[in-house]
Amino acid sequence: MILVTGGTGYIGSHTVVELINAGFETLIVDDLSNSEKEVVDRIEQICGKKPAFLQLDLKDRKKTFELFEKYPNIEAVVHFAAHKAVGESVEKPLMYYENNIGSLINLLNAMNEFKKTNFVFSSSCTVYGQPDILPVTENTPRMEAESPYGNTKKMAEDILRDHALANSAFKSIALRYFNPIGAHPSGLIGELPRGIPNNLVPFVTQTAYGLREQLSIFGNDYDTPDGTCIRDYINVVDLSKAHVVAIKRLLKKRNKSNYEYFNIGTGKGTTVLEIVKSFEKANSLKLNYKIVDRRPGDIEKIWADTTLANNELGWKAEIGLDETLASAWNWEKKYRS
Ligand code: UDP
Repeated sequence: MILVTGGTGYIGSHTVVELINAGFETLIVDDLSNSEKEVVDRIEQICGKKPAFLQLDLKDRKKTFELFEKYPNIEAVVHFAAHKAVGESVEKPLMYYENNIGSLINLLNAMNEFKKTNFVFSSSCTVYGQPDILPVTENTPRMEAESPYGNTKKMAEDILRDHALANSAFKSIALRYFNPIGAHPSGLIGELPRGIPNNLVPFVTQTAYGLREQLSIFGNDYDTPDGTCIRDYINVVDLSKAHVVAIKRLLKKRNKSNYEYFNIGTGKGTTVLEIVKSFEKANSLKLNYKIVDRRPGDIEKIWADTTLANNELGWKAEIGLDETLASAWNWEKKYRS
């Protein structure tokens, strides 16, 4: 059985689907602070198999230990559960450190106690900040984090590194995601931001649906081909499959060190305007947008070198941008109706 914390969330739910498709039994643990319980039924609709579910806040150390007592057959953990809003983390840093770091520590302590050794962590390309040389490899130095949220990812990586150093049996893999977008082709699960979306693609789909009047593109005076920022947008289903191969690598003991980390992106940079164009083309519609001032804190450009993940995990992004943006639109329409 694979324990998926945050398994009703955006990336978590897609990963549970891929784990079930790969033949794994799954257990979702989620506090439902930023997701809906209904996602469990939707996963069942997609897979024909229902994941076990437990509503639990991993900040509760006692309950976290009880979880491992109750499910002795947990073979590995994929840890998504965390707060993820950059702006909110600047306003409420303690809440972010308490939640994102506190729950990680509880989980690792419980795993230690119950002799569980396989751990996959959802990290982020945010650990690189604005790199000098592109694309970024795993050897690109990590920068001082721009926000408490980003810092929790960096700190968590350090915790895993140190924990692995001190405990030769413990094995972990951190996956540094670039920008996950899109939705499951069924349109039954997808990204569901609460309130006004911060991220580009949910804002695009909500604008297309008429929930937002206009997309604001934050700056067109960057040093990029069309002046808008560049990111590496990775399809969420492709991304989810990276977790399955990471789990298999740990279970088959194919890992080369006790703490490994991989870039998970497409290896391609895309500008904001290219996203808009691709979205319009893939879905045969016009998007209302305007150029506004830069958003403070945005980095200009980043994309991944994915050679290590390609070679070591045997994983590669496969789904193209148009198809991904069609899936995002399909999800938005299906969800709203
Ligand atoms: N962006 C934008 N308008 C929006 C939201 C995002 O122009 O309403 C741009 C943003 O400036 C960045 C890119 O889209 O260049 C991706 O932003 P997102 O917040 O999705 O991801 P992140 O900045 O964390 O990489």
